[in-house]
Amino acid sequence: MEFKNTFQLIHEFVHAVIQQINPSVAGLKWLDEGIAEYASKQLEEDIKSRSTFNDYPTLRQLESGSVYFDEAGSTAYLYSGILIKYIVDEYGIDALNKIIRTPTNIEVIMKASTENIYEQWVKYLEDKKWLR
Ligand SMILES: [Zn+2]
Repeated sequence: MEFKNTFQLIHEFVHAVIQQINPSVAGLKWLDEGIAEYASKQLEEDIKSRSTFNDYPTLRQLESGSVYFDEAGSTAYLYSGILIKYIVDEYGIDALNKIIRTPTNIEVIMKASTENIYEQWVKYLEDKKWLR
């Protein structure tokens, strides 16, 4: 396998670590790719290279997994990474750790419904404080 750069190497390493912790995360593409994007610092680079953030996915797209990733390409990685950043910024790294271990408990861990989590994330996106 050939890696574009160090970030990509870290990205693949993060996948390997997550697989060791909980193999079922691979079935949740926004979570799996979002963490790899966030932890590898690819997210920072992708954010810097953009001026607008208006093409964010619908909840249905996020839940569609590889359908959205096939449609949106690198944009899907960006928004999945921002979703992970939102969880860490607003709920802390412990919440993310719990979600990795039991993704089915996300509503309990984040004390909100999936729809509500999505709405809050959209507000966070539109707010753009996270850009600074
Ligand atoms: Zn990946």
